[in-house]
Amino acid sequence: MNKVTKMFFLLLSFLAFSFCLFQLTQRYLSTTSYVRCTSNTLILDAGHGGEDGGTVSVSGVPESGINLSIGLKMDQIAGLYGVQTLLIRTEDTSIADNSAQTLREKKRSDLHNRVAIVNQTQGAVLISIHQNNHPQKSARGPQVFFHDDENSKAWAEQTQTFFKTGLMPENHRQATKISSQVYLMNHIDCCAILVECGFLSNQEEDLLLQSDEYQSKIAAILMGSYLAYQS
Ligand SMILES: [Zn+2]
Repeated sequence: MNKVTKMFFLLLSFLAFSFCLFQLTQRYLSTTSYVRCTSNTLILDAGHGGEDGGTVSVSGVPESGINLSIGLKMDQIAGLYGVQTLLIRTEDTSIADNSAQTLREKKRSDLHNRVAIVNQTQGAVLISIHQNNHPQKSARGPQVFFHDDENSKAWAEQTQTFFKTGLMPENHRQATKISSQVYLMNHIDCCAILVECGFLSNQEEDLLLQSDEYQSKIAAILMGSYLAYQS
């Protein structure tokens, strides 16, 4: 198969998957109702970047690039649905101030700047994208965390359900309130979820998370849940 044909089939399978997800969303909406956040802008926060690569996979790949790929794919889907987005970063860079010197200072400045962007955006709703790591190598599957408010909780629970239905039926993880240790999620004042898309400490999931197709599925599920939540 030449490159163009391959791209065409990849796009076709991506669209087919997005359509299935849209159907799933509509079915879910007809059976569920609760208060929702009003959003003008979906902020896509690809975790880490630059010198701070985040967790490193068993095959030696930092999570920052995977987070960015998924964020960019979400942005493409958002464009198809007319959703206004704001990407915290579009390249593998930190958004720390130039005055920050040490890695510690850079990480702190980067997080402060992310918080400022979110809190200065009117009608913002945030998805923060990350990858997980656990000493127990068998740990796998996406996990959704929520900002401490009822709407974010409902959105996170719905997203976790979408992951179970659309990606990994054997994943029994529950949406969980974010730890008080996560700076960004505890300093913003809008609806927000943080998604650990999978475990880079798991050999099989590490390879999946690096593949274009699996990243597209994750992006489609996250956007499907967002669209359902906004409807
Ligand atoms: Zn991370």
